[in-house]
Amino acid sequence: MEFRHSHSLGQNFLSDGNLLSAIAADARILPTDDVVEVGAGMGALTRKLAQCARSVTAFEIDERLREYLDPLCAECGNVRVIYGDFMKSDIPVREYKAAANLPYYITTPVLFRFLDDPACRSVTVMVQLEVAERMIAPPGGKDYGALSVAVQLAGSATVTRRVGRHMFDPPPKVDSAVVRIEKTAAPVTDGVKRLVRAAFSMRRKTLVNCLASCGYDRIKVLGALSDMGLDPAVRGERISPQGFTELAARL
Ligand code: SAM
Repeated sequence: MEFRHSHSLGQNFLSDGNLLSAIAADARILPTDDVVEVGAGMGALTRKLAQCARSVTAFEIDERLREYLDPLCAECGNVRVIYGDFMKSDIPVREYKAAANLPYYITTPVLFRFLDDPACRSVTVMVQLEVAERMIAPPGGKDYGALSVAVQLAGSATVTRRVGRHMFDPPPKVDSAVVRIEKTAAPVTDGVKRLVRAAFSMRRKTLVNCLASCGYDRIKVLGALSDMGLDPAVRGERISPQGFTELAARL
């Protein structure tokens, strides 16, 4: 019987062999690497990753896909599939590279989980093009926000390829892109996270007003901005990722 894709689970599958090989190559996996994949689907990307890696641990929430994934595990020998919600499961791998064609409805929580996990060395993921643009956006523009700061504080991020919607089955409503993040820094502190969330809570307000309305001391914020040589009327979108780290330390 033909597989009925679940829209709510973000089941937009890939099958083009060249594209799948290119995504696996973007992830720069070595034969000594362990890989974690979110959303194995029918295992098309899993298989390519398994050809490059020492092992692949893939998560898949939809038990109906056992029919495709259990034979793949038997065939490959270095693949294990954990059936369940990735966001509610432990990652039983000591050090890994993450690679996935993500289910788009959980893009942000999955990204934040990988960014926060010290065991994760790099992240190579298919995301909506608009999300990819936000991830790599420099300060000052409309795309720059909390996601840009989090990604850029974790390491260096690049868009490795754009992927048209027609490459997926079924095609989603948006185009996509593969983003690779090479992690170079320790996870950001809770203080920085809270500050960044507050800074982008109301985009049309100044940074001072945003922070004051989120419980920060207005006088302290003004003092810190002055010490950093920043305009007291600056908006959050003008502060660089490193600027947020410095500001959090001063507050
Ligand atoms: N990797 C396959 C491919 O490229 O063809 C499938 C990618 S598809 C975009 C996303 C997959 O993630 C689907 O198979 C879906 O069932 C699965 N999925 C959705 N939510 C999930 C979750 N919370 N945890 C684990 N897998 C999930």
